[in-house]
Amino acid sequence: MKIKSTADGSAWFCCPFCGRKLFKVMQRTQCRDFPAWCRKCKREIIVNIDGKAIFAADAPCAPQAGAS
Ligand SMILES: [Zn+2]
Repeated sequence: MKIKSTADGSAWFCCPFCGRKLFKVMQRTQCRDFPAWCRKCKREIIVNIDGKAIFAADAPCAPQAGAS
């Protein structure tokens, strides 16, 4: 997980896999179980933001149809 800070105190949350900027995070941004979708590597990253602490967890891949 990468966070790129900007001059105005906000930051960009970047995809932990490819580094693409996904969304902007303000100093007071809060979200819980936010599914951030990376269009580049087509993966979903579940993000929790509480104040300045940002947690990301891999979301399991969607079940493949007909896998059974
Ligand atoms: Zn990515």
